[in-house]
Amino acid sequence: MAQTAPALVVEDIHKAFGPLEVLKGVSLSAAEGDVIALIGASGSGKSTLLRCINLLEIPDSGRIRLRGEPLEMTRDRRGQSRPANWRQVDRIRSRLGMVFQSFNLWTHMTVLQNVIEAPVHVLGKPKREVSEQAMALLEKVGIADKASAYPAHLSGGQQQRAAIARALAMEPEVMLFDEPTSALDPELVGDVLRVMRQLAEEGRTMIIVTHEMGFAREVSSEVIYLHQGRIEEQGPPEQVFGSPRSERCRQFLASHL
Ligand code: ADP
Ligand code: MG
Repeated sequence: MAQTAPALVVEDIHKAFGPLEVLKGVSLSAAEGDVIALIGASGSGKSTLLRCINLLEIPDSGRIRLRGEPLEMTRDRRGQSRPANWRQVDRIRSRLGMVFQSFNLWTHMTVLQNVIEAPVHVLGKPKREVSEQAMALLEKVGIADKASAYPAHLSGGQQQRAAIARALAMEPEVMLFDEPTSALDPELVGDVLRVMRQLAEEGRTMIIVTHEMGFAREVSSEVIYLHQGRIEEQGPPEQVFGSPRSERCRQFLASHL
């Protein structure tokens, strides 16, 4: 059963911050190898959705399943939703790779140390084995020559590729990207997109929040347009970019050409 289950299923997620309802019932399903591009205006809830998926935020309601394993939720005495088992949260988090807009590398560690840190200290893998895998990953993202450099000595694009290698080192089942190229100088964007495109071609399951519409159109298997915390348009890239049903989505795309 678990083998045929989608990589990730999110059902009817709601999330509010105080009176502000940010997610109003969002559902999505990513089969193995799917690349979902999540697009939408600033403030539409894209980051909150990713953060709910990897439980950096706890959804108020809804269900999340990773390869068929449901996240167990319960309610506290005030009716607040919370995970039933924080160990399960840690396990689920370690199966999801997250790449943020702002790289988030550890500045006091070299690139190689950044990449091996979690496999060694979270998964308890032998350092030598992990270091070899890490070097192969750095090779893959094109920065093997920077392995012993500190993040401050890398360009933004190189830092972001190091962050991608660091996420991959955990052998995640699903990769989550939150605007990975938004903080980069334009000439550095291409190198990062190239790495992500390669991951897509290798069949990695990915959810990518991006404003790079050309990239989304070429690389994704499905596009989801979020508007004020709801899915307003959803479909294959040819359909969403070619003939969006929603007028709002059409306008959004026209302003992001
Ligand atoms: P997007 O990534 O699409 O730009 P976000 O998910 O970051 O949107 O934010 C959606 C809305 O939720 C925004 O109005 C934002 O200010 C609000 N928001 C996000 N995180 C928090 C938080 N931790 N506390 C309060 N409001 C938040
Ligand atoms: Mg965001």
